[in-house]
Amino acid sequence: MQTCSCGTKIMTKIIDGKKIAEEIKEELKSDVLALGEKGIVPGLVVILAGEDSASQVYVKNKERVAKEIGINSEVVRMSAETSQEELEKIILQYNVDEKIHGILVQLPLPKNIDAKKIINLIDPKKDVDCFHPENVGRMMIGDARFLPCTPAGILELLERSEISVEGKNVTIVGRSNIVGKPLAVMLINLGATVTVCNSKTKNLQKLCAQADILISATGRAGLICAEMVKQDAVVIDVGINRNEEGKLVGDVDYIRVCDKTSCITPVPGGVGPMTIMMLMRNTIIAAKNQK
Ligand code: NDP
Repeated sequence: MQTCSCGTKIMTKIIDGKKIAEEIKEELKSDVLALGEKGIVPGLVVILAGEDSASQVYVKNKERVAKEIGINSEVVRMSAETSQEELEKIILQYNVDEKIHGILVQLPLPKNIDAKKIINLIDPKKDVDCFHPENVGRMMIGDARFLPCTPAGILELLERSEISVEGKNVTIVGRSNIVGKPLAVMLINLGATVTVCNSKTKNLQKLCAQADILISATGRAGLICAEMVKQDAVVIDVGINRNEEGKLVGDVDYIRVCDKTSCITPVPGGVGPMTIMMLMRNTIIAAKNQK
């Protein structure tokens, strides 16, 4: 809780990812309508191999949101026994399909599949997840074709909450290729001073407590406690975990941390809804670029 100069208590601002994602959805609908007038219908294919239950839910959500926006979406469901060759054949087929502008391979892939090889086979112009080395490299040098969805969603949340990152000390906990690493690059490109932590980091508490903006993406429920958060810091919780009662929670001990922050994202309803919207945005960008 903050106190302004007149002594009035100001509550922590909860960054409502659901609401912001809905606003973006409306903007994307307009973009799709404008493209429609030029005879372009953005197309997205999601390829799902195997029966991972979380992946099934994610794919269903992507299909639903794409439909709401007016994106033509296809889902290819393949068995867990799918071979490398079969999957590669599907990718090559969609690489040359003019109706499809974005290709997303839902991860994780079954163990017998070489995921790196599959991702490298996607036409970089259709790589709406931004996992292809060409797109990662372009993002690195500040010449991005697409931005990876979760980091892009986080930046969008900050921007739309009028939180500038320039000159800020940002600590990211987590160094995965999907969240931590690309987010660090994007923040550096925007002029932030970035510290990236991992499971071997010494003095995690100190590095977190120096952050103006603290972002956690570890998948460890309750890792970020109040002592790790600077007074009035901005806290972004990327983690999605189930606690002992089966409830969806983030990495942050929300109840105890909340009052100390100026702004915080909840779980659910923070970063999650943004990730899917950024995928839709990338599909529309891909459709524009390919025409
Ligand atoms: P990974 O498992 O790939 O990476 C986790 C990272 O956290 C690793 O770098 C790991 O370090 C680090 N880590 C783990 N434990 C600690 C610790 N005790 N102290 C410091 N660092 C630690 O996960 P992802 O990046 O794919 O996902 C992270 C979380 O974000 C998950 O909960 C996932 O579900 C969620 N997520 C949410 C999304 C959304 O849209 N909201 C999208 C993507 C992910 P090390 O490298 O040393 O092992």
